[in-house]
Amino acid sequence: MSDCIFCAIVDGDIPGRIVHETEHTLAFLDANPLAPGHTLVVPKEHHARLDEVPADAAADLFAAVNDLVPRVESAVDADATNVGINDGPAAGQEVDHVHVHIVPRFEGDGGSPIHAVAGERPDLSDEELDDIEASISG
Ligand code: AMP
Ligand code: ZN
Repeated sequence: MSDCIFCAIVDGDIPGRIVHETEHTLAFLDANPLAPGHTLVVPKEHHARLDEVPADAAADLFAAVNDLVPRVESAVDADATNVGINDGPAAGQEVDHVHVHIVPRFEGDGGSPIHAVAGERPDLSDEELDDIEASISG
């Protein structure tokens, strides 16, 4: 996509600190890192939402994440990692090109677990949980 910043990095039109590349995937350092080593992993092809990424590219994407997490941790001497995708604007997605955040974590860094991303916790009845289960499983 012509006005997409991550497509521009993939195409080499703007600079990125590239840390990993495969057939379908590129990984580069986040320009505004939440922690040292904060890395973004993107499919080379432009897709806005995760469910639009073809299966082979999605498999390649997550294989790259799997490969990168220990490498990033070791590079910055991190104790742990949060891996996450803001999938859609309501989830906080600002760049509409699918990207996986690898955020290194350090003992006592003052951050939060991924449970902190959502709003108030819902109080769901068993019936509501049954409906959701049925609806997802089809
Ligand atoms: P999100 O809110 O999930 O869409 O996150 C977008 C991320 O892209 C943010 O963490 C930004 O710091 C990062 N970002 C924006 N522009 C660039 C860029 N040119 N190079 C690297 N990372 C970027
Ligand atoms: Zn793009």
